[in-house]
Amino acid sequence: MSYRKPQVIIGCRECEKNQRILRTGASILTVTTSFQEHELGELRANNYTCPYCFDTLEMPKIILNMCQQLMNGYAHIVSHPHETRVITEDATFGIPHDQRFESVKSILRLKGAYVEGIENHAFRNPSQDLALIFYGMNLFDTNKWIIIIEAKYQPEPLLLDDPFWSTQ
Ligand SMILES: [Zn+2]
Repeated sequence: MSYRKPQVIIGCRECEKNQRILRTGASILTVTTSFQEHELGELRANNYTCPYCFDTLEMPKIILNMCQQLMNGYAHIVSHPHETRVITEDATFGIPHDQRFESVKSILRLKGAYVEGIENHAFRNPSQDLALIFYGMNLFDTNKWIIIIEAKYQPEPLLLDDPFWSTQ
């Protein structure tokens, strides 16, 4: 299985929106910062401060645990305002923030879209990883901040594009 260097990308949605309005062809400003696994401890100590508005995203242990565990997983994880988007090599699905799920099966059944075998392509420890997502994603304001986890064992690159910011 091929792998990439996993990273966590953090950004401020509000500033992204403002910068997008100001953007002209050549001058695309970066409103995100990426962190590698060895930098998570530093993030825990200093929290994350948006370089534009200077608002701070606190990084409690459970968010760091979520990042660390899922960085070494099979799926890219993107926080959207109302759900967590899980991007595996073959499929993408959303986990609503307001519900606690024990299995991928139960998430996809809700949408009538269960694909046999998807569970083991999405998570290493489905029930543990889903618990981390539930608690981690509910610990910060997903309307204000975006957290993206690029997983080590997801062979497809994750392209940070406008849809990640604009979709709900
Ligand atoms: Zn900001």
